[in-house]
Amino acid sequence: MRDLDIVVAGGGIGGLTAAIALLRAGNRVTVFESARDFGEVGAGVTLAPNAMLGYKALGLDAAIEEKGISPHRQVVRHWQDGRVLKTLERGDGMREKYGAPYLYIHRADLHAILLDALSELGGKTNTASRVVSAGYDDKSGWVELADGQRHHSDLVVGADGVRSAVRSIYEPIEAHFTGHIAFRGIVPVDQALADYATNPGNIIGPDRLVVWYPLRGGSQLNLVFFAREGDWTEDGWTIPATREELRSIFAGWCEPVQQMIDRLDEERLFKWAINARTALRGWSQGGRITLLGDAAHAMTPFMGQGASSAIEDAVVLGRAVEASDDLPEALARYEATRIERATFIQQESNDNANRLQSKDADSFNKKEIRNEETLGLFAYDSAKVAV
Ligand SMILES: Cc1cc2nc3c(=O)[nH]c(=O)nc-3n(C[C@H](O)[C@H](O)[C@H](O)COP(=O)(O)OP(=O)(O)OC[C@H]3O[C@@H](n4cnc5c(N)ncnc54)[C@H](O)[C@@H]3O)c2cc1C
Repeated sequence: MRDLDIVVAGGGIGGLTAAIALLRAGNRVTVFESARDFGEVGAGVTLAPNAMLGYKALGLDAAIEEKGISPHRQVVRHWQDGRVLKTLERGDGMREKYGAPYLYIHRADLHAILLDALSELGGKTNTASRVVSAGYDDKSGWVELADGQRHHSDLVVGADGVRSAVRSIYEPIEAHFTGHIAFRGIVPVDQALADYATNPGNIIGPDRLVVWYPLRGGSQLNLVFFAREGDWTEDGWTIPATREELRSIFAGWCEPVQQMIDRLDEERLFKWAINARTALRGWSQGGRITLLGDAAHAMTPFMGQGASSAIEDAVVLGRAVEASDDLPEALARYEATRIERATFIQQESNDNANRLQSKDADSFNKKEIRNEETLGLFAYDSAKVAV
């Protein structure tokens, strides 16, 4: 099929990548995004080789590599004394082994690349357009916006994130709090932080985890501090946090962690709850509506595979539509190709929280490591997998 009218609800990494894949396959695509402006929170994202294979298929790999940074390796350190427990190779070996690099990129830079590609392909975008509902009839799918307008199309793709309005027609259940919170900040790299920028990694310890990596040519350091928190009532992506809060949560952790906390700019230090979804049995309704990315399978971020999975979904959806004679067939192919893998990654991401935040950090070094690479996730090529 081609020449379909397709509506994508949500202009995040998943929605924009899906729009590009569907445009490249010869369809017309309109994106409705609830935010006033397209953009992304000031934070980085890791694109594993499986994500970059997807972008290679969409012809975006060169632009992304130009803005991103491929590390040589990542170190995993002990929370008390900072000693190295494990070194994970991430350099040229990735490209040789998987055909694509492992890289870090600022979310805003990735977003800008996606928006440029979308507009070059003739995609339409509407901001300040919150989808409140979706549905379908014999002839079309539709989304209803907050202003009451209904937009009909051949296909509706719900890529509207963990709190997806489109998903609410599948089940009455809301996203659940996973018990984890994340604090995020980006700091400029000076002499004292230079070593962290060249040697990205994690510091692991009981119920806590610190992740750091360079962005924008190594001029910035992306910092994420994870902690388990029993209760959480606040909601939002930009709840202000304080250095004191972090100092108390990470009391007793080694000097590098204290140094990173000291460098944070409180004006730009935010925290939020990690919410997730339980797996759905099916993603499609009436051959007219489907889900993608966090709307379909929001997971904890402990394998850095949430965005990568959304990118895989997007490429497979584009291919499934192109390869099929009608929409029910296309959505069945999409779902059959994606649902098992996405559900597996969801589960493993949850389990990885326990592996990375174990009471005994030393045990990390003692057993066979089970992570995104050893599980074979990097080798998945969404452009080649059978649909
Ligand atoms: C701390 C943290 C670190 C992470 N690190 C990584 C990583 O390194 N690598 C990785 O692969 N993944 C990572 N992830 C996961 C990743 O961020 C998500 O999986 C990814 O952003 C999902 O993309 P999406 O487009 O499906 O959803 P989103 O990014 O949530 O995008 C949804 C879009 O839809 C819009 N929207 C929402 N509701 C509506 C509505 N009703 N109508 C219209 N528009 C709407 C939103 O404004 C947004 O633009 C991390 C997550 C967290 C929390």
